[in-house]
Amino acid sequence: MHMVPPMSLMFRSPFYRMFWMSINDQLQTEALEANLLADAETARDLEGLRRRVIEQGLVIEELGAMVAVMSKMLIASGQLDAQVLEHRVDAELDQRRAPPVKPAGTCVLCSRQRPGEQLSTTAYGAVCSGGCA
Ligand SMILES: [Zn+2]
Repeated sequence: MHMVPPMSLMFRSPFYRMFWMSINDQLQTEALEANLLADAETARDLEGLRRRVIEQGLVIEELGAMVAVMSKMLIASGQLDAQVLEHRVDAELDQRRAPPVKPAGTCVLCSRQRPGEQLSTTAYGAVCSGGCA
């Protein structure tokens, strides 16, 4: 919060000094009210986020429990190999977490079709990275 300088000292007349002090008090009260409203809004936002994190955590926990039970049942019945499952889950996670592949495109200079990783995006369109060959 900003500090209001002691403007009241600029006025010699007690009337103007009092007048300024009442304006000053009003300004400070309004600033304080605005801060309180902003704080209340932030608190509501944080409370909403906190609730959503908890709700999503509970859903994730339920899904995890269901996957764990299904895996254990399939492994116990011999229909699933635990090690194969682990490798496949790792591979799936690697695939899902990999950065998106840039789509193939055509160079606006040489008109050649190139894979996305060999093209650079410019304001004029895609061009061969490192120059056309
Ligand atoms: Zn090119």
